[in-house]
Amino acid sequence: MIASTVQPITTRPAGPISPPEEVMAPAAYWLSDEERNWAPTAYLLEGDRLTWGPLWRFRAFPVAPRTYLHELRRLDLTDGKQLLDFCNQFGALGIHSDSETSMHLDGVRFAAALLRTLTSIYHLHETGRFEHESIQSWHWDSEWVAPPDDTVAGHEFFTYEMNRLLDGVTPMVGFGNHRQPPYTLLDVLVIQLFNDIAGGVTYKTCASETCRELFVNQINRNAKRRSRSDGTRYCSPRCARAQAQRNYRLRTNGHRTGRDLTT
Ligand SMILES: [Zn+2]
Repeated sequence: MIASTVQPITTRPAGPISPPEEVMAPAAYWLSDEERNWAPTAYLLEGDRLTWGPLWRFRAFPVAPRTYLHELRRLDLTDGKQLLDFCNQFGALGIHSDSETSMHLDGVRFAAALLRTLTSIYHLHETGRFEHESIQSWHWDSEWVAPPDDTVAGHEFFTYEMNRLLDGVTPMVGFGNHRQPPYTLLDVLVIQLFNDIAGGVTYKTCASETCRELFVNQINRNAKRRSRSDGTRYCSPRCARAQAQRNYRLRTNGHRTGRDLTT
């Protein structure tokens, strides 16, 4: 519930906007066979840099729903391999238009941390908890992005950063060969967050004691069983299985306590 003193978030337009079906990011291409077909290759990690090229062109990556919430929040930003896998699945995140053959992983980390911070602010606001104490106790990516710890400055931070990111996805026109910049992964992720804000979506918190992450629909759920996903307490079948095993071990330890029964 939103506390009565908290201003509701408003958006323009008032409802969701259509995200593009794919994002573009640079990728290295190989001449794959004797017929001289060019095929894209995966990003590589060289030290702390994501690399492609030297021969590269834009490659299309399909867009998955709620990547900003479900996949992005579960990344360990200190784990270069996880960041590499994420970029190979969804596209290079936070890339600058002047990056020619590589980018530092800090670019990925900063973009991820900013989106995660904005999502957390939205969540705290929607649950009426965006206040000094929650801001101080919430788990932030504070090495990369730290919102101000008072409510008014926090709201200003939220609107300034959201609107700065949304600047990249406003409609535009051009003549003839004028090249429109393609949608980047960051553009699409901010559209996804915008759409959930505009739709007033509220998040659930995973009931797994080692996860506690936010989610809307269960991740990686078998499509046939998707209709049963309403009301689930776990963000993924993996979290549900892991917690069931923990509960089972607690029960079979021979020390049934009141606390065990509530986990
Ligand atoms: Zn979970």
